[in-house]
Amino acid sequence: MAVLVFGHKNPDTDTIVSAIAVADLKNKLGVEAKAVAQGEVNPESAFVLDKFGLTAPEVVTSVAGQQCILVDHSDLAQSPDDLGDAEVVGVVDHHKLGDVTTSNPLEMWVWPVGCSCTVIKGMYDFYGIEIPKGIAGAMMCAILSDTVMFKSVTCTDQDKAAVEALAKIAGESDTMGLGMEMFKVKSAVEGTPMRDLVFRDYKDFDMSGNKVGIGQLEVVDLAILEPYKADLLAEIKAVKAEKGNHSVFLLLTDIMKEGSVMLIASDDGSVVDKAFGQSGDTEVWLDGVMSRKKQVVPNFEKAFA
Ligand code: MN
Ligand code: MN
Repeated sequence: MAVLVFGHKNPDTDTIVSAIAVADLKNKLGVEAKAVAQGEVNPESAFVLDKFGLTAPEVVTSVAGQQCILVDHSDLAQSPDDLGDAEVVGVVDHHKLGDVTTSNPLEMWVWPVGCSCTVIKGMYDFYGIEIPKGIAGAMMCAILSDTVMFKSVTCTDQDKAAVEALAKIAGESDTMGLGMEMFKVKSAVEGTPMRDLVFRDYKDFDMSGNKVGIGQLEVVDLAILEPYKADLLAEIKAVKAEKGNHSVFLLLTDIMKEGSVMLIASDDGSVVDKAFGQSGDTEVWLDGVMSRKKQVVPNFEKAFA
């Protein structure tokens, strides 16, 4: 039976492309592996897959009894609900170590870089295996996406070097142009249900016993989202009530202005003040804040502690 390779819930481009790339590498190393995903691909990922002639992984939400490699996450909350009945044989990630545990030794590739695909570039190099052109192009896009075209504080020199090397393999000369094109696709919100926008890149966290949801929408210009702000706020309030969360926050990130408006639905809005030194009933502007992982989650974790 093939080892299943998959990323987190609400898959983003890194999660999708990492699963495809790790499955490719494993197959070339003689381990039968299959890329799957916990949901349909988002518009940005669809654009990237189409651009490089790749197909979206099959959607799989139950993994009981299977061998699994986790990419782009190591949190139980981000994994399939029955992961406990599966065997995790590998983790490839760039987040803080999560709460996944194993009963057997496993392979772990976890680096403090801006994107899982940067780690995977290192894995291909380690084994001396050539990256197929299409996969290289998609990995390059995943890194540009996760690092917001190198602007995110999570971006490292390794990410930049990986993009340069992958662009060569993919034969892409205008990487930043392609990145911008990708972010324009990502910015398109017209006709999309508010719920889909809230969940496009959404994660729940356990913060000192409080369930806190944080979503993020990245756009090339916040003006695109201005007409939808009231509806988005109403939607995160509804999501908070349905999930029984303490809070649901939605970051509206302007990648050109390099900052985020954060919409707030919370039982106790003072956590925002504690986390960022700024107060607002329904929203605050967080200048320079673009990374949920490095600039938002740690602040809230301290505020909730
Ligand atoms: Mn991800
Ligand atoms: Mn990632």
